[in-house]
Amino acid sequence: MNEKGAPIVIVGAGQAAARAAQSLRTQGYAGNITMIGAELHAPYERPPLSKAVLCDDTEPTLEVLTATQFTECNVQFMPGVRVLRLDAEARLLHLDDGRQLSYGRCLLATGGKVRELPDLPQGAPRVHYMRSLDDARMLRGVLTGGIHLAVIGGGFLGLEVAASALRRGARVTVIESAPVLLGRFLPQEVSSWLSEALRGEGARIELGQALRAARTDAHGVEIELGSGEIIRADQVLVAIGLLPEVALAQDAGLAMDEKNGGILVNTACQSSHPDIFAAGDCASQFNAHLDRPMRIESWQNANAQAETAAAGLLGLPSAKQAFPWFWTDQGKHNIQMLGLGAPDLAYVRRGHLNEAKAVWIGHREGVPVHGIALNAGGDLRALRPLFETRKAFDTADFETSPLPLRAWVKSAMALQSTET
Ligand SMILES: Cc1cc2nc3c(=O)[nH]c(=O)nc-3n(C[C@H](O)[C@H](O)[C@H](O)COP(=O)(O)OP(=O)(O)OC[C@H]3O[C@@H](n4cnc5c(N)ncnc54)[C@H](O)[C@@H]3O)c2cc1C
Repeated sequence: MNEKGAPIVIVGAGQAAARAAQSLRTQGYAGNITMIGAELHAPYERPPLSKAVLCDDTEPTLEVLTATQFTECNVQFMPGVRVLRLDAEARLLHLDDGRQLSYGRCLLATGGKVRELPDLPQGAPRVHYMRSLDDARMLRGVLTGGIHLAVIGGGFLGLEVAASALRRGARVTVIESAPVLLGRFLPQEVSSWLSEALRGEGARIELGQALRAARTDAHGVEIELGSGEIIRADQVLVAIGLLPEVALAQDAGLAMDEKNGGILVNTACQSSHPDIFAAGDCASQFNAHLDRPMRIESWQNANAQAETAAAGLLGLPSAKQAFPWFWTDQGKHNIQMLGLGAPDLAYVRRGHLNEAKAVWIGHREGVPVHGIALNAGGDLRALRPLFETRKAFDTADFETSPLPLRAWVKSAMALQSTET
């Protein structure tokens, strides 16, 4: 184990960074850990930013590690410092305050940065993006009842903010260029249900609308749609995706995943340079459950890769990869997913959309690939072992069996084992 000499340095101070520091300690590392974060905050959870931070009366506790846990990790924390360059051969980090820091092994946990619309750059008046606590606080500050918020981008994040803004009494227009909401992630049935649910809460949703132009001034925001219609709003949120923050890795010559822009890492989260590891939104790793390298932007992935990277940094074996899991809260509705959607999947459902409680399995020739739970997270947990078998199940029986879900999973798995 790398106990003495140059420390382990973690670049970034977000979800993956904090969990990696904690995991290094629980896995027995007693040497020095330094954590360098460009933000002034101690590591905090981002999922509540678009949810409770915007719509609750008081700001929730956001810390990834409690103050006690953070102290116990005994990390030398450097907030408000950006790493400008990583010299892999010299094992040296160049910081924006002029200092240089050497490391024994380094973890890149640099997350991602928002994709910007040139017409609506970050920092322009009335323009909002949603990545950091400061972004969320700024939007919350203007979300008073009666304002009109335009949301550009009908992805999970944009829709979460839309739902939160509605709860705060704002008028909301969502502008999405695709013909359906979340078409890459959800089957048509769920996507349509979600559009109607949001419309029911009072949102205006414009689908299939290209953005022709947008401008802001002291009086408001004007957004010109492909149809020629002009939408006038008081504030605008741009939520059109994330780019991995990989400049350090690229400059250092690390291998990158050309498809998703992430830092290529192996099963131990080790990059193409043996001393440099990467975890979280910035990393692309082969996913054994999805059979391809993936860069996954989720809380669970950041935590899981942090643990794997910590083991890798110490030269210890890593835990088995968990099936990718993701959740989103759309106002009062909770949607959870296992795996990823794909256009060729067929979906079977249990439960009723009119009761807003259902669970779907997207399958390829009977093999479960994608699970979705609408206000039924417990059901998705019950289905997880079935997904992990990667074997075909009786899709019709899933829909029609009178057995409660847990009992059905048991019987489906028993049947699978008699068939092999
Ligand atoms: C608003 C919002 C809502 C979300 N909701 C959900 C949800 O409901 N469910 C879900 O599963 N996931 C959700 N996510 C995604 C989840 O929060 C992220 O996947 C997770 O935070 C990724 O963790 P990370 O450590 O990789 O990156 P981050 O948490 O982004 O941390 C990266 C840190 O590195 C710092 N950094 C970058 N470059 C440098 C540098 N050169 N020097 C120093 N510091 C640097 C950044 O400033 C940042 O603080 C949400 C994300 C956001 C933004």
